Amino acid sequence: MAHYDGDAAPILVAGGGIGGLVAAFALARQGFPVRILEQASEFREVGAGIQLGPNVFRVLDKIGLKEAVLGDSHQPPAQEMRDALTGKLITRIPLGAEFVARFGQPYAVTHRADIHGILLNACQGNDLITMETNRRVDGFKEQGNGVVVRLESGEEIKGRALIGCDGMWSGIRESIVGDGKPRVSGHIAYRAVLKRAEVPADLWRPDVVLWAGPRTHFVHYPLRRGELYNLVAVFHSDRYEEGWDAEGSKELLWQHFKGQRPEVLRMLERIETWRMWVLCDREPVKEWSKGRVTLLGDAAHPMLQYLAQGACMAAEDAVVLAEKAAAAPNNLPAAFKAYEQARYLRTGRVQIMARVYGEFYHARGVAAELRYLALADRTPEQAYDGIAWLYGGP
Ligand SMILES: Cc1cc2nc3c(=O)[nH]c(=O)nc-3n(C[C@H](O)[C@H](O)[C@H](O)COP(=O)(O)OP(=O)(O)OC[C@H]3O[C@@H](n4cnc5c(N)ncnc54)[C@H](O)[C@@H]3O)c2cc1C
Repeated sequence: MAHYDGDAAPILVAGGGIGGLVAAFALARQGFPVRILEQASEFREVGAGIQLGPNVFRVLDKIGLKEAVLGDSHQPPAQEMRDALTGKLITRIPLGAEFVARFGQPYAVTHRADIHGILLNACQGNDLITMETNRRVDGFKEQGNGVVVRLESGEEIKGRALIGCDGMWSGIRESIVGDGKPRVSGHIAYRAVLKRAEVPADLWRPDVVLWAGPRTHFVHYPLRRGELYNLVAVFHSDRYEEGWDAEGSKELLWQHFKGQRPEVLRMLERIETWRMWVLCDREPVKEWSKGRVTLLGDAAHPMLQYLAQGACMAAEDAVVLAEKAAAAPNNLPAAFKAYEQARYLRTGRVQIMARVYGEFYHARGVAAELRYLALADRTPEQAYDGIAWLYGGP
C-alpha cells in the first residue's frame, strides 16, 4: 500500500479504454484514489477481437485479473500462416503446453468487449475509483502540488497527477510531445465478428490463422469460448479518414482480395457489414512525461497491429506505472520519469517491429519466397526464440 503526504486528491485518468481502466485499477490496488474521465457517453469497446500474448497475462496475473480474462477467452492450439494465393502452409507455431512451459503464461484471443467488461467490473468494485462519462478533457495545467484539468464543458477538475490514456489521437500528447498527427500507414483494416453457426463448418478453425497475400492479409480466430468468430482483412490503400470504426465498402475489399484462395473468399463473402480502420502509428519517442502528467498506451506509443500488442503494451504500461508510483508516492514526477525510462525502449521496439512484421505479411514475389524459406523449417523452439524478446517480458 502506498504512503501519502496527506494529499487526498485523486490521480486523474483521461480515457477509459483498456489502458485507462488497467491503469486505474493497478493504481487503486497500490492505494491511490483515481478518477477516470471518459469523453464518451458510456464505457464501452468496439465489437472486435483481440489477441493477448503471454506478456499481458504476466501483468494481469500481478493485479489478480488473469483468470477472469482467460475465462471468457479462447485459447488457440496454434498460430498458422498460409500463403493466400497457393494455400501452402508457411509456418505453424504451437501455443499449447510447450508454449506455456516456455513463457510461463498462455496465449489467448478474446472479444474486446469481454476484456473491457472485466476491467470495468474490477474498477466499479474498487472504492478508490470514481468513473465518469461525458467528460472530455480539453486541456490541463500544473498548479502547486497538483494538476488542474479543463473539460470541454469548461468545468475544472483538480488532481494530484494526470495520466493521458486518451488513445491514438491524444490531445494530452500534443501538449507534452507536440509531434502532430499520427502517421498514416497506408494500410486499412476491415473487421467483423460472426456467430459460430454463421461460419461454414469446413472453414471453422480453432487456431489463429493468417492468410498472407500480396499487399494484403486476412486473419481469423474464435472468440468468447468459441461462440464467436473474428475476421480481420487488411490491405494497402491511400484512403484516409481520421478516427476508427467507419463502415467499410465491400467493393474496395474485393478489389484487393480477388484471386485469393477459396477458403479466404468464402469467408469474406459471409460478412454483411465491415467496420473499417485506417491504421496509423508514430515514430517512437523517448519522453512522454512532463512533471505530474504522463501518457500511457496508444497515447504514448501508438503502433500498427501486426504484432497484436497495442492493448498488451497499454496493460504492461499500466502495471509498471502503478509500481513506480507506489515506489515514490510523494514524488510522482520522478515516478513518471522512472516509468517512462522502464518502458520506452520496449514499446519503441514493438512500434518498429510491428512495421517489419507488416512488410513480412504483405510480401510479394521474391520477398514472399524468402519469407517461406525463412519460416517454413523452423522448430517450435526456434519460433519461440524469435519472439522471446516480446513474450518473455515485461
Ligand atoms: C485492427 C486492429 C487490431 C488490433 N489488434 C490488437 C490485438 O490483437 N492485440 C492487442 O493487444 N492490441 C490490438 N490492437 C491495438 C489496441 O486496440 C490498442 O492499442 C488499444 O486499444 C489501446 O488502448 P488505449 O486504452 O491506449 O486507447 P483506446 O482504446 O483508444 O482508448 C482511449 C479512450 O480515451 C477516450 N478519450 C479520447 N480522448 C479523450 C479526451 N479528450 N477526454 C476523455 N476521454 C478521451 C476514448 O473515448 C477511449 O475510451 C489492434 C488495433 C487495431 C486497429
